Amino acid sequence: MNTKSRRSFFKWAFTSLGVAAVLKSTSSYAKLACPQAAPTAEKVKKKLLDYTGKTAKRLAFVDNAATAKANKAKKVKGFNKFVDGSNCANCKFYKAPVDNYGKCAMVANKYVPSCGWCKSYKKNNKA
Ligand code: SF4
Repeated sequence: MNTKSRRSFFKWAFTSLGVAAVLKSTSSYAKLACPQAAPTAEKVKKKLLDYTGKTAKRLAFVDNAATAKANKAKKVKGFNKFVDGSNCANCKFYKAPVDNYGKCAMVANKYVPSCGWCKSYKKNNKA
């Protein structure tokens, strides 16, 4: 490999790495880590569902759909309706997301994490 082709190779490699880094940081490419980090947006923090409160318990709400899957496997009451791939982000009650937290009509429009799940889940056929 001569100096010119080596330089071309490195130029191509660094450009490719830069493009990959940009793609990875965009929401369509990035995979959200579940359970999610606590919200930072003030309006989400103010109206965040209490994950351990009465409403959450009544709906068998969990902040990570993987927990719902595990609970279904263990035959925990309230999780028998869980279907692989379901979560708040693709539920028809999940609206107006801010930083991966959306308002849910089933919990008085409190914010729920997109990774969450509850037994009122209904597939959003428009998503
Ligand atoms: S109804 Fe849908 S959006 Fe609301 S908490 Fe349950 S799964 Fe999440």
